[in-house]
Amino acid sequence: MEIFKFGGASVKDASGVKKLAAIVKKHEGQLVVVVSAMGKMTNLLERVCEARVKKDAQRAALHLDELRLFHAAIIADLFPTGNAAARRLERVVTDIERILDEELSPAGYDHEYDRLIPFGELLSTGIVSDYLAANGVDNHYVDIRKYLLSDHCYRNANVDLEASRARCREAFHFRDVNRYVTQGFIAGTTDGQTTTLGREGSDYTAALLANLLDASRVTIWKDVPGVMNADPKEYPAAVIISQMPYKEAIELTHFGAKIIHPKTIKPLQNKGIPLHARSFLYPESTGTVIRDFDHWIDLPPVYINKEDQLLLTLTPRDFSFIAEEKLSRVFSILARYRLKLNLMQNSAISFTFCVDNHPAILPDFIRELQQEFGVRYNDNVRLVTIRHYTDEMIREIIGDRVVLVEQRSRSTAQFVI
Ligand code: ASP
Ligand code: MG
Repeated sequence: MEIFKFGGASVKDASGVKKLAAIVKKHEGQLVVVVSAMGKMTNLLERVCEARVKKDAQRAALHLDELRLFHAAIIADLFPTGNAAARRLERVVTDIERILDEELSPAGYDHEYDRLIPFGELLSTGIVSDYLAANGVDNHYVDIRKYLLSDHCYRNANVDLEASRARCREAFHFRDVNRYVTQGFIAGTTDGQTTTLGREGSDYTAALLANLLDASRVTIWKDVPGVMNADPKEYPAAVIISQMPYKEAIELTHFGAKIIHPKTIKPLQNKGIPLHARSFLYPESTGTVIRDFDHWIDLPPVYINKEDQLLLTLTPRDFSFIAEEKLSRVFSILARYRLKLNLMQNSAISFTFCVDNHPAILPDFIRELQQEFGVRYNDNVRLVTIRHYTDEMIREIIGDRVVLVEQRSRSTAQFVI
């Protein structure tokens, strides 16, 4: 049994859905197809949600209309005669309108988010499942919220693997059909609430289902030909990395490579299930395989660019040393604001680090640090990471740019520029 995951970019229009259908049709054997919301529909639903919590009913209705038109155009192309999919769309729009008419939930923004955002996935999977069926690909549609169980941590729910296992095995039983279509990114609680697993979480869903159902492989169909050693838009000499150990994939996502959702590897590695990243535009090309290897894999230098960073330097107000107690204070403040350190460096009386720019929380964070430290910072800097660096690659990428911080380990060079 295999899992195929199609992201938003692969189902951003009718032609994408047709390509998906061709790929699924060609695959013989048992298959679970995990699909994200179409195109940028999750962003659009986020705008609906924001308008709702700001009580801007007019703007919410405008965004909802945009969502309806976007899907209606795809449906019109995919189903020139039937109107079941069009009715499905109207039902979803009515469901969203009903939520928009309700009072805001006392559980707060995150709960509102998880009530609205999942409609993107619910719609895309309905459309895909109907389209496959209409084109001779028998399949069952599974509403994953009943089977993949999570806690109530809205927007970033934790899936209970053990509680989900038996349920998922029953839902995807393969007794009377070879193919299933289901949603990525969303889950449900035992009391029937919908939850989401964090942005771009469909990869993670594919990995969780693979683990629960003992799949032989997960394939993530992307709009790029596999995992590349750089973004070809920034670095035209980029090449495809044909194979990569799990460990390396975890490191690359940690440094900010947007190859897969960072939580994807662990459920696969635990069961030794290989992950393929392939192009839905060029399904003949083999892409990248991520798995365990019993021999050394040579990897090219990998260039990862993290934009919009804030570089901070702290110095104790009394010029005392930055010793362990001071560092542990800094770390506990960082943890409280849920900020992730992207790079750090210390000297006798200073501590320098990089975090992502979160305009909503950084002013409070900096104010709190200022109570104990002198704080200097540069905003809008870039963090460049080069794994398996070569001097040549560093020269090509850094050139004569001003480097604010530089760090090298045996395998990784990082530059704040
Ligand atoms: N649709 C969700 C998002 O855009 C999940 C995903 O694409 O993986 O974040
Ligand atoms: Mg997406």
